[in-house]
Amino acid sequence: MIELRTPAEIEQMRPAGRFVAEVLTRLTAAAGVGVNLLELDALAHDLIRDRGAESCYIDYHPSFGAMPFGKVLCTSVNDAVLHGLPFDYALRDGDLLSLDFAASVDGWVADSAVSLVVGTPSEQDLALIDTATRALDAGIAAAQPGARIGDISAAIAAVAHADGLSVNTDFGGHGVGRTMHGDPHVPNDGRAGRGYPLKPGLVIAIEPWFLQSTDQLYTDRDGWTLRSADGSRGAHMEHTIAVTEDGPLVLTQR
Ligand code: MG
Repeated sequence: MIELRTPAEIEQMRPAGRFVAEVLTRLTAAAGVGVNLLELDALAHDLIRDRGAESCYIDYHPSFGAMPFGKVLCTSVNDAVLHGLPFDYALRDGDLLSLDFAASVDGWVADSAVSLVVGTPSEQDLALIDTATRALDAGIAAAQPGARIGDISAAIAAVAHADGLSVNTDFGGHGVGRTMHGDPHVPNDGRAGRGYPLKPGLVIAIEPWFLQSTDQLYTDRDGWTLRSADGSRGAHMEHTIAVTEDGPLVLTQR
């Protein structure tokens, strides 16, 4: 079921969006060569506790997960792109790190992700992150009242295809509200003019993610982390946005 939020409810969602944005800013600043993924998760946990927020991940146990997630942050490194379960790993120079974070504040959820390179970046990794960033921007720009979900999907895919990347539609954006994952699904490829109409009050996460040379994934032995089938690297960018009469409002703006 797709739920629409009143303007007052969207106002109530702003603190969650601000908090998630602030945590990602702190984590991005903290991520460096030699920093352990478990330290980043612990920092996110501290920030959640200090704010009186609630993690959306720690007890998360969907049908595709082997066990409850047990951490508050997704850390996907290099060939990992989604659902990266933090483990005992110290970041190395040149690692491509994607951080995905969702939390609930005052009963409302926000969800956002960012990719970055630790230490010295390669041109290739910067280009991949740039494509994902522009795809997110294009998807957000398409989230106008009166448009449809397919307009967001088509805008994202157009950016990917122009850069020679293929798109996986198994995992994409989603409705956000009292819980982290709701309807509608927001695929990263689709036909413009099709799908659910974007009505004011619709709150969704838009989250393009791409791999350098494949669109196929496999699940790591940890039961969670999704890695590229061919070992190529991935990038992932995500914001939670509200469709309003005035256009898209980015709730997780950093
Ligand atoms: Mg997310």
